[in-house]
Amino acid sequence: MRSPCAPDCPVLHRACRAFAVALATLLLGACAAGTGIDLRYRAVSQDSRVRFIIVHFTQADFERSLRRLTREEVSSHYLVDVDPPRVFQLVPEARRAWHAGPSYWQGATALNASSVGIEIVNLGNGDDPARGYAPFPDRQIERVIGLIREIARRHGVRPDRILGHAEVQPRTRTDPGPQFPWRRLAEAGLVPWPDPARVAAARVRFESVPATVMWIQERLAAHGYDVPRDGVLDSATRRVISIFQMRYRPARYDGDPDAETAALLEVVTAPGGLLLADGQGRWMPFRPE
Ligand SMILES: [Zn+2]
Repeated sequence: MRSPCAPDCPVLHRACRAFAVALATLLLGACAAGTGIDLRYRAVSQDSRVRFIIVHFTQADFERSLRRLTREEVSSHYLVDVDPPRVFQLVPEARRAWHAGPSYWQGATALNASSVGIEIVNLGNGDDPARGYAPFPDRQIERVIGLIREIARRHGVRPDRILGHAEVQPRTRTDPGPQFPWRRLAEAGLVPWPDPARVAAARVRFESVPATVMWIQERLAAHGYDVPRDGVLDSATRRVISIFQMRYRPARYDGDPDAETAALLEVVTAPGGLLLADGQGRWMPFRPE
């Protein structure tokens, strides 16, 4: 755009003023409003700060869950009600919600900073180990699946970084618990699942030669958990085994390192051991990156 003003124009006459206004308007279009910062260039090397999606149950009804997550010193980005399964956003995704606490996965810590948290209204087991866990209605799970799919797509979250709260904080948490249907999320193509043929073959081997506690601990750590590595089957190790079982073998989550658990652990940590559904009923090898 060429100025109608001569370089030596002694006065800013009407045409010059009109040109100046037009130019300023054009430049402002590429500026953050009122900041004077020019936004016209964008680097190709960047990604979302969101690397994990963490799933919780609230262990309370809707009213109590909402009050706690909006009024107290805990929060989450989303709250999913039961029936109807309405979805509420309580914290914008660009901001940090306080849902994961002291947390760890594959060397990453303090996951509030790098995650989106989803709280699902569900009574859990009421913190009573003797009580069973409450189921999640189908419609609620369908809503959760749709929500996770959208968040993962928006931020490019890897399928193996969609986790339960207990997986990143196994010492004190069990949510979303053994009733949460991770297998359905796998069938929907959201999370990877261990190759069942390899699990069956490995199980036969572990039935004749059981895995050592040290091996179990090393595989749990390789998978991502914060777990002791001292060869002792103590309560901390049993808790992590139980959390692993809740996800991959929820029919029994007693923390015993049985042959099926060892087989699942071997397969989830072996190259090519995890499969990802493609949405058309086919399972393909999952490659993290
Ligand atoms: Zn939680």
